[in-house]
Amino acid sequence: MEYKHLIVGAGITGCTIAQRIAEDLGEKVLVIDIRDHIGGNCHSHINAETGVEVHSYGTHIFHTKEKRVWDFLNRFGEFNSYRHKVVTTYQGRTFHMPVNLQTINSFFGISLRPHEVENFIAGKSAEENITDPQNLEEKAISLIGRELYEAFVKGYTLKQWECDPKKLDASIITRLPFRHTYECDYFTDRYQGLPWNGYTKLFKNMLDHEQIETKLNTDFFAIKEELPENCKIYYTGPVDKYFGYCHGELTWRSLRFEYRVEAVPDYQGSSVMNYADIDVPYTRIHEYQHLHPERENKSGRTVTAREFSMKWKQGDEPYYPVNTDGDRKRLELYLKEAARLKNVHFLGRLGQYKYYDMDKAVLAALKFCDENLA
Ligand code: UDP
Repeated sequence: MEYKHLIVGAGITGCTIAQRIAEDLGEKVLVIDIRDHIGGNCHSHINAETGVEVHSYGTHIFHTKEKRVWDFLNRFGEFNSYRHKVVTTYQGRTFHMPVNLQTINSFFGISLRPHEVENFIAGKSAEENITDPQNLEEKAISLIGRELYEAFVKGYTLKQWECDPKKLDASIITRLPFRHTYECDYFTDRYQGLPWNGYTKLFKNMLDHEQIETKLNTDFFAIKEELPENCKIYYTGPVDKYFGYCHGELTWRSLRFEYRVEAVPDYQGSSVMNYADIDVPYTRIHEYQHLHPERENKSGRTVTAREFSMKWKQGDEPYYPVNTDGDRKRLELYLKEAARLKNVHFLGRLGQYKYYDMDKAVLAALKFCDENLA
């Protein structure tokens, strides 16, 4: 195929840009991916023993405040009405997560009312005298006090990032709300759910256009030299890899999943159970059947995955940008290199080294198209 546009990576960013180029410009697009499937880390597969849809790279819940993003994705498939709720286990007891009134009252064995929470927590965090929180630990303590921080955040965060929470960015913890009520939905966004027919079908529909061709098992670096002249490249792989790691590696966390088919119809009663204790080696257990309450699992068994966080090294899947001071300096150098390339755009979580949620990745891709496809 003769094409003017090459998308590197068939994840949520790549699929969005491919779709917009094909539809808005009516020009031919080639989408390549080094993996043997589309959908990037949102990919899912069916477990043969149970028929349960398993998210191959950990649970991905779609949620957004942006009507534009929601309307865009709904063109390619409907979503179910799943609302994410997370339970966390600490020293053998279970609590709501994010921290809410149930978490506080059960943890301290009290029965505060919503209007009493602010003073209660202020009393606890006042002991620390943190006026301008500079890192994840200070931010968390200023929000929930030291005892709740040590129970529900410190161990989990140490396992997840393998880094002193004092060295992590405060923004990581502000992803989680802190509630003075019994509200236990993880997200408050107006639009939420899981693709009714699965993630893979959604991405297939996005790429189902006569102007789009998709090639899997295709390594960009193996074909880079043979690309047509003036081909525009939309690169959603790791930015440091593009430049041969010439300014050093950006730091990532990677994940490992241990799958089990459990011989019970329901293992934990929730799609995600976090484990806050440092001595439990995994951060959480996923139980995928709960993501689709509208589907019937007749197998009498259920699929779980224990999630282990680990240091990333070349060859591993990058999941979370660690974003240390050194990373920020290296990123600046890579962005300068990137700005010099007229025909290459760097996009998505890996291309921009940003902790994007799915909806933010779609929104950024749509805005990029607004500004660059005219
Ligand atoms: N976190 C925590 N305890 C929990 C859940 C999350 O301390 O039970 C912290 C942890 O540092 C984590 C961050 O909050 O990295 C963001 O959590 P989120 O659930 O948004 O992470 P994701 O779903 O993207 O892995």
